[in-house]
Amino acid sequence: MRPKVYITRRIPSAVVAKIQEVCEVEMWQEEDIPVPREVLEDKVKDIDGLYCLLTESIDESLLQRANKLKVISNMAVGFNNIDVEAATQRGIIVTNTPGVLTETTADLTFALLMATARRLVEASDYLREGSWKTWSPMLLTGQDVYGATLGIIGLGRIGESLAKRAKGFDMRVLYHNRSRKEQAEQVLGLEYKELDALLKQSDFVCVLTPYSPETRNLIGERELSLMKSTAILINTARGGIVDEAALYQALSNGAIWAAGLDVFEEEPVKPDHPLLTLPNVVTLPHIGSASIQTRTKMAELAALNLLQALRGEGPAHRVN
Ligand code: NAP
Repeated sequence: MRPKVYITRRIPSAVVAKIQEVCEVEMWQEEDIPVPREVLEDKVKDIDGLYCLLTESIDESLLQRANKLKVISNMAVGFNNIDVEAATQRGIIVTNTPGVLTETTADLTFALLMATARRLVEASDYLREGSWKTWSPMLLTGQDVYGATLGIIGLGRIGESLAKRAKGFDMRVLYHNRSRKEQAEQVLGLEYKELDALLKQSDFVCVLTPYSPETRNLIGERELSLMKSTAILINTARGGIVDEAALYQALSNGAIWAAGLDVFEEEPVKPDHPLLTLPNVVTLPHIGSASIQTRTKMAELAALNLLQALRGEGPAHRVN
């Protein structure tokens, strides 16, 4: 019998065809609307493989219904949407797509850093709304990136790629990580710092850890108060790592200068979210890995992981 697979969103047809060579495939056909929970709860009862996105919560109550499920293949590197422990207890393999999105996400992180430092969105809006009257010495002045100090919290794959970009801008690069990365220190000239020291010394702080109970609200009121009043916070990791209420306060009262956010605690972020009212915040709709090439590679890798697990081959990118 061919294994049954459910795909929770429309993915490239060539990738679907690859899975269909060996599996019976059903796919949620919408591109911009996540599969409703009740549909997923129904589908999961009868499948061997689930191909899902970070928009689906694969929790204990869903897994209780998944009597035949052998593999959950997440088309993302982060897997905080999945209760990995509950999957492991049921013998279900969980996979992710690391590596293929590293450079694209580092590009976006640096782009967001530049856009926030130089107020690109504000400047573009200013021009479009007809406010531009003349060249002025201090009009829309931002912060220098070249030669500034960058602090990276979470020096993994993306953090290290970000550090390489920063070196091209002659930045001093500090990092804080769960474990020391001595090779990166030597090769890239990075300096390890305790979290508080990094926050005090950096002009730009980029958050790039996974989201977990350990990193929830890692950056809160106390941490923001340690940052320079001219500093910029960039979060392209996950929303819950930065306490949004504390960030709003810090940005409103001038404790820090600006923030660039690709991710939010609740996504999609509500249009009336207080952070969206601030001019010194650049916001993006979670597009860190969104290039055509990278999203295609992620879709292909997620399919490969799924097929390897169903063939009993032991997928390369297993997280449990
Ligand atoms: P990674 O290679 O696993 O790197 C994560 C790093 O964070 C590791 O070096 C890890 O340390 C460190 N870390 C974990 N917990 C920590 C803590 N409590 N304090 C300090 N450091 C800690 O992952 P990656 O591929 O770089 O991706 C990082 C995250 O970015 C993903 O988990 C995902 O959520 C997010 N992401 C977002 C987008 C987007 O579209 N915005 C795209 C891709 C990824 P160890 O070396 O000790 O494990």
